[in-house]
Amino acid sequence: MNRTLQKPSFAFFLLFSSVLISTGVVPAQDASSSKLSVHWEELTAADFREGIHRSQGTCLLPFGILEKHGPHLPLGTDLLDVRYTALHAAEEEYAVVFPEYYFGQIAEAKHEPGTMAYSRSLQLALLQETTDEMARNGCKKILIVNGHGGNESLLPYFAQTQLDKPHDYVVYVFDERSPRTGGPPKKTTTDMHAGESETSKMMVSRPDTVHLDRANNESGADQHRQNLPEGVYTGIWWYARFPNHYSGDGSAATKELGEYQMKWWIDSVVRAIRAIKADDVSLKLQNEFYEKSTHPLDTQP
Ligand SMILES: [Zn+2]
Repeated sequence: MNRTLQKPSFAFFLLFSSVLISTGVVPAQDASSSKLSVHWEELTAADFREGIHRSQGTCLLPFGILEKHGPHLPLGTDLLDVRYTALHAAEEEYAVVFPEYYFGQIAEAKHEPGTMAYSRSLQLALLQETTDEMARNGCKKILIVNGHGGNESLLPYFAQTQLDKPHDYVVYVFDERSPRTGGPPKKTTTDMHAGESETSKMMVSRPDTVHLDRANNESGADQHRQNLPEGVYTGIWWYARFPNHYSGDGSAATKELGEYQMKWWIDSVVRAIRAIKADDVSLKLQNEFYEKSTHPLDTQP
């Protein structure tokens, strides 16, 4: 081959690639063939800086728990599922994902083996220090992806109380795990904990930990042991209805349902990450609110 022709064509290749990179057609990271991990704990300090830059300061805090999940699923079911979802979503729409976090509200399962139930004050203090520290490291948009039903009051309360004093970041909470409609038809109606949906999802995220043959060793039926009008709340409501810490029938689970629900969950988190990256309103409104709160008498309608 003619050497004089080879040289200019290589030079042209270099020029062409740098044009592609500078115009954003090819991400610079791919060009240097190093893939940036979405796992906070896997990044070097320098790569963490790059990750925060690439994610536009958007970080995920997948929130799990350690509690009994019927007779057939592992204690870490919610942690395993929510991390599977968050990590897959962040791969699709880059965000930095915080390591294992399972310090939530689970007082109602303290009578079962393996439950880690931290006190109310520690749950709130630890979560605040965690998001404060994430924000100090550049996570100015923190999406808590909730994997555990027992956190459904804790997390909105935590987000709401970010208004008590100024923060230079926004806490977002995504608290859906299963689609309300669509997908393979479900066989059961009671399905709140370790039942058809949750067991199906685990058949996708960690099938090796699912013991489907044990799903009927205990009853997950609603025992209706309280007789109070709708709208009257007590902390013992869950134990009154589901004393085995099992709600539903895990033996009805299928991989098809799990695949449908997992895809829905991951897609929903991807949509949330994109919307949060594009959100330039929440922090502005927070700052306006904090400022006005220092002199409420001047606030005009
Ligand atoms: Zn669960």
